[in-house]
Amino acid sequence: MITVERLTYEYPETKALDDISFTVQEGAITALVGPNGAGKTTLLKCIAGLVKPYSGSISVHGINVLEEPRKSHEIMGFLTDFFGLYDALTVSQSLEYFALAQKLDKSMVKERAAEVAGLLNLTDKLHSRASSLSRGMRQRLAIGQAMVHYPKVLLLDEPSSGLDPEARMSLAELFLHLNAERNMTIIVSSHILAELDQYAKDLLILKNGRILDHTAATNLSENKRKVMIRCDGGEKRLAAIVQDMETIDAISHVSHNTPYLCLDFSGKDSELSELLHSLINKGIPVVEFFIKREGMQEQYLETMRI
Ligand code: ATP
Repeated sequence: MITVERLTYEYPETKALDDISFTVQEGAITALVGPNGAGKTTLLKCIAGLVKPYSGSISVHGINVLEEPRKSHEIMGFLTDFFGLYDALTVSQSLEYFALAQKLDKSMVKERAAEVAGLLNLTDKLHSRASSLSRGMRQRLAIGQAMVHYPKVLLLDEPSSGLDPEARMSLAELFLHLNAERNMTIIVSSHILAELDQYAKDLLILKNGRILDHTAATNLSENKRKVMIRCDGGEKRLAAIVQDMETIDAISHVSHNTPYLCLDFSGKDSELSELLHSLINKGIPVVEFFIKREGMQEQYLETMRI
């Protein structure tokens, strides 16, 4: 859906994007992460066709964004980090205005505004002016404005900043809904990694304008499993038995995270069940045996350490 090739963007004193290339598949939800100043906002602005890079190319759904920015805007939605609202307009009027600007048929506009307000839990504010909304509601309205035309690609720069935990949870649900029901391809930049785990399928890590990593989060968690074991006494024996097992290829590392013994495990499910079986056969009183999947937060921190 999105192809970025050899993209370089320079501000007068900074090279914000340094020769980066990547692709995003249709239907992906990609988490764009990286430290402050990594180039996330600049990258999103380039994809959205709002700024012109020094060199490189960007194609979205087959449209060359740099050559046909207006055409590309029709299939994209973009929430900037510093968004603006028309304070004098009501929620309904704001959404209708953006729907009309996106050339939605006039006959559909009212219905669409109400539908989008519903998706963002703003139905009871439809007739309130934007100026009277709380910070979180304003954020939700801005997201609504960005997606009122149900774009093929939705780009969101820090969409959950200022939202309370409940609103963040419903935002995650909204992204999953738009992705599943409307087949929207979504790129979300955020610093809240734990939250990205709830909906993102891919992880794109930027640092100093370069890509450090681009992985499918689902593959990542399937390959690297941490098995956590806790027993009711006999910890020393458990550790000794597992130490012996370290020769098994599937176990690459054993560590202690009291009260658990943690195994880095890359074997199949059948090997996992054999492991549990053999511990019980050896008389270890296992009370907990579970898999802790590696999330985006762990993957991000590990990549940043390299
Ligand atoms: P943050 O997480 O803090 O929002 P970011 O990853 O979005 O950061 P960008 O805002 O894209 O990073 O900035 C990338 C680099 O470009 C930084 O070094 C920043 O100082 C620089 N930069 C960004 N905007 C401008 C600008 N308008 N003029 C000059 N330099 C800029």
